[in-house]
Amino acid sequence: MELSLSKRISQLQPSPTVALNTKAKELADQGYKVINFSVGEPDFPTPRPIVDAAIEALNQGKTKYSAAGGSLPLRKAICQKLEKDNQLSYQPGQIVAGIGAKEILFHLALALINEGDEVLIPAPYWVSYTEHVVAAGGKPVVIPYPSDHKAARLTPAMIEPYVTPRTKAIIITTPNNPAGYTIPEAELRQLGQYLTDKPWWIIADEIYEYMSYDFPAISMATLCPDLKDRYILVNGLSKGYAMTGWRVGYMAGPSQVAEMVRTLQTQSSTCLPAFIEDAAIKALSMGSAATKDKMGLLKARRDMAIRLLREMPGVDMMPPNGAFYIFIDIRKVLAKSPLYANDNSLAFSAKLLEAHHVAMVPGEAFGAPGFLRLSYAVADEQLIEGLKRLGEALKAV
Ligand code: PMP
Ligand code: GLU
Repeated sequence: MELSLSKRISQLQPSPTVALNTKAKELADQGYKVINFSVGEPDFPTPRPIVDAAIEALNQGKTKYSAAGGSLPLRKAICQKLEKDNQLSYQPGQIVAGIGAKEILFHLALALINEGDEVLIPAPYWVSYTEHVVAAGGKPVVIPYPSDHKAARLTPAMIEPYVTPRTKAIIITTPNNPAGYTIPEAELRQLGQYLTDKPWWIIADEIYEYMSYDFPAISMATLCPDLKDRYILVNGLSKGYAMTGWRVGYMAGPSQVAEMVRTLQTQSSTCLPAFIEDAAIKALSMGSAATKDKMGLLKARRDMAIRLLREMPGVDMMPPNGAFYIFIDIRKVLAKSPLYANDNSLAFSAKLLEAHHVAMVPGEAFGAPGFLRLSYAVADEQLIEGLKRLGEALKAV
């Protein structure tokens, strides 16, 4: 008997970042010396006081359900963080904490989108946005990555051609994954002004906030308070505190949106584990100081990676100032071989893993073929060895 499956969910792709990371780990388990530049995860450990807070909570027996959407102390800690770091004033009722920013973003898509609504997603984009929109029955409208990517931070002129009467929301990510740009204050203000009279939800993914090396990352909500009734700030502890495995993310926004996202959580993951909440409260109380020393390390790695990449013929990039990615343009190299026709970085990435044991996510995953994303949050020796292998693989094209 052949039974049918959900048409909507059948359209979804598995997360390519998670899939490639899994494949790289499998190869490593088989004994291959794999260099894994695939997943966006800081290599440094979660700061000790945060780990200790979780242990203490476990010892106190905090092993039960917490409150859906986050306990009041956690939501208050998030409000304090937003006040202190971003000069934004929110009430706990406007906050929802969930299982990673990924769950929050997924639930936001379900909460905001009706069948056929369009969501503007500027490429290169983080892999899950499009799939969340499809899962919610909406239409992801990708704003293409301009060919001249050196000037390619998001601007109103780039957005305008993709606006229709069905546009319902826009997703803005700064510092950006995978392009690594942080939108500077003046440009962000301009973008905010453009959005002022647009009847759209603004989903602002600020998860790389603490990782901006040349100038600080700013929230558009801080610059443009008029947007606040439509602005949904999304952040999380995964990146800034090296807490990817703890799965803590949150949103701050209009209370009716927060209420819907919380309702969805009550019907799915229920809540964060109580002992994780204590660790999250500790992390938020430490703020950016928790990992400040690591930011200098990441900046040095970025600079080293740029230097090594510049030595590779045919390789180009927009030098990034945020997150921990370099989005490497290899279109000139790919053009040399029919195997990689039409900027097929997917095929090159497969070859790179298979023959050189280096895992890098291809641009196709982010809506920009012809690129490779380097996550440089890895140990220096790995970075040097992996880039050496990448150079050899490019030379062999
Ligand atoms: N947004 C962006 C831009 C990301 O890179 C990630 C990384 N996975 C997430 C959201 C989700 O992070 P998490 O679920 O670990 O909080
Ligand atoms: N955000 C990270 C990345 O882009 C982690 C993996 C994922 O959740 O996609 O690689």
